[in-house]
Amino acid sequence: MMTFILDFDHTISLNDIITQILDETGIHEWRDIENRADLGELTLRECLQWELDHINITKSEYIKFIENNLRIDYGAKELFEWIKNNDYPVYIVSDGLKEVIIYALNEIGANETPIFAHQLLWDGEKKIGIKMANDNCEHNCANCKISRVNTIKEKHPDNELIYIGDGFTDIQAAPLADIIFARNNYSLSKYLIKEGIVHHTYNTLLEIKERLEND
Ligand SMILES: [Mg+2]
Ligand SMILES: [Zn+2]
Repeated sequence: MMTFILDFDHTISLNDIITQILDETGIHEWRDIENRADLGELTLRECLQWELDHINITKSEYIKFIENNLRIDYGAKELFEWIKNNDYPVYIVSDGLKEVIIYALNEIGANETPIFAHQLLWDGEKKIGIKMANDNCEHNCANCKISRVNTIKEKHPDNELIYIGDGFTDIQAAPLADIIFARNNYSLSKYLIKEGIVHHTYNTLLEIKERLEND
């Protein structure tokens, strides 16, 4: 048996809705904030919290924005169907937003997948706050993927763990898995190459399904 853990942004989705909303609403400073996080001047948690705090739209604008802008990897549907047909446990662990993930999962018919992600809080149409996926951890993650991976591993101790991701927030969590798939030419794969950590790269999620079903 296998257990799957997938990141969401740039893994299942091809674009990042949070920064797109910020750009769309005239908040371009997120680039400076992300640069400062890259330089270690801000933690990843502080960076994401800043971004979520600066989202300033109504709930219906938000939903419409997701519907109009979210692009999903064309292999996502087939990968999830195959996972489901084999009864493999699958989880999404993301530094994105729950509503965006739910929308994508509905599109690909995988809406029963458990999601660990952040949330915007609403009172009717008005955004009244944010809810981070967990409290601060020792590594200052926004969503602590390291502890999620460990908890999921404990839940399915005999399964081979497959981690699928792309980015900075996957760097520490992915090597805890048995098999890593990293989106080709993104920061996770660049990091793993630099550190000499064995992994597969993918350009579409379909390649992952094809590789695993032929193993
Ligand atoms: Mg990502
Ligand atoms: Zn952490």
